[in-house]
Amino acid sequence: MKAADWRVIREIGYGVGAILFFAGFVAILYEEYRFFVKVAPYRELGIVGLLSGVILFVIGYISDQRFKEEEKLEGPPQVVETTVKEKFFCRYCGKENKPDATFCESCGKQLT
Ligand SMILES: [Zn+2]
Repeated sequence: MKAADWRVIREIGYGVGAILFFAGFVAILYEEYRFFVKVAPYRELGIVGLLSGVILFVIGYISDQRFKEEEKLEGPPQVVETTVKEKFFCRYCGKENKPDATFCESCGKQLT
């Protein structure tokens, strides 16, 4: 997989993991104090949420490691060679000019 793919998994893993972990924590807290409903199986749900959150966090962490490895393998983004290597000839007199020249060195006519 490419570095970008691992990055997406890392974001999802951390993001959803954090939400589930927090939701699980709140559910367990709710189970302890029972603010509104007196009977609710929130402890089990909370534990499931917490565990899922931790697992997703681990997945996020692994993806983060893989992302960094892949990024190292792929190297920095390739810089496109913008310098024109080809020689530029005047279409009036045929004189060779620099690629960025606006006017011909020989006849003075406008290039391009
Ligand atoms: Zn010329």
